[in-house]
Amino acid sequence: MKKYLALAIVVTVLVLMIKPLSFLTKYYLHECPEKSSVKQDDFEMYLEPLDLEKYKQDIFSFDKVFDISVAETLAYREQDFEIYQIDKNGDGQNMLIFAATHGSEFASALVVSDLLNEIAKNPELYEAWNIRILTPINPVGVKHQSRYNEDGCDINRDFQHFLTKGAKLQRQTIDEFNPDVIVSLHEGPQDGFFVIAENSVPPDLQKAIATDLQSVNVALARKSFFGIPLSDSGIWHKKPFVYFVQKLFGIHTLGRYANERGIPMFTTESNWKVRDVNERKKPHLLLIKSVVESYN
Ligand SMILES: [Zn+2]
Repeated sequence: MKKYLALAIVVTVLVLMIKPLSFLTKYYLHECPEKSSVKQDDFEMYLEPLDLEKYKQDIFSFDKVFDISVAETLAYREQDFEIYQIDKNGDGQNMLIFAATHGSEFASALVVSDLLNEIAKNPELYEAWNIRILTPINPVGVKHQSRYNEDGCDINRDFQHFLTKGAKLQRQTIDEFNPDVIVSLHEGPQDGFFVIAENSVPPDLQKAIATDLQSVNVALARKSFFGIPLSDSGIWHKKPFVYFVQKLFGIHTLGRYANERGIPMFTTESNWKVRDVNERKKPHLLLIKSVVESYN
C-alpha cells in the first residue's frame, strides 16, 4: 500500500512539473524555440495590430528635432522590415534605449513616439544627455504579433552566439555608443508594472528609482513574472544569485550581458493583459524620466 502511495506522489509531482519544465525550456533554455514569427498562446495577452508604415511615419515626423535613420533592413517573405535609430545629441552621459525586442509586446514599441514628444517638449531636462533609441528591435515579430523573430528565435536569449540580427545590432550599438545606462522596454504577464535593475545599477540609483515609482499614480507589481515577491513594489533588485542561476542554465540575456560589462541597465515590464494601451505605455516613460532626473 505504502509503495502505491509513494508511486502516486512521484507521478503527481512529475505531472505538476511538466508545465513549469516545458515553460523553462521554451522561454529560457532555447535561443530559437520556434521556426518563425509564430503567435504565443501560453498567456492571456491583449494585442492590437501595429501598422509598421504608420509607425515609420510617426517616428520620422520627429526628424526636425532628432537624427533619425534606418539602422538595419531585414528581408522576410519578400518584404523589407526596418529598425530605426534615433539620436538626440548632448554633451554628457549616454543613454541607450531598445524597444520591442519581443514583437508581441507592442506597447513597448509605441512608447517611443511618446518619449520623442516628451524630450522635444522638455529639452532642458534632457540637455546633457546623448540618447540613442533603436526601435523596433524585432520588426518581423511586431508585424506578426510574435515574441520571436523571423527565424523563431528569442532575441533576448541570444547574447552568447549572436545568431539574430537583433542581438548583433544591440551588441554593435553598445560597442559604438558606449552607454552609461541602458533601458530595454518590455511587457510581461505580471499584475502591474515593474522594472528589473541589474546588479550593475548603483544601489543609490536603485533606491531613487524605487522611491520615484512608488510616488506616482501607477499600479506597481508586488511580484515578478515568476510570482516571486518583490522587496520593493515595482522594482526587482537583481542579486548575484540570479546570475549564478543564469550561468548554471546557460541563459544569455541582454541584462546579463550588460551586467557582465558593468553597464547599469533597467528592463521595464508593463502588464500585457491591460486593454488600456496608454496605461501600459505611461510607466516606461516615467522610468526613463526618473533615471534622467536621478543622474542629473
Ligand atoms: Zn519581453
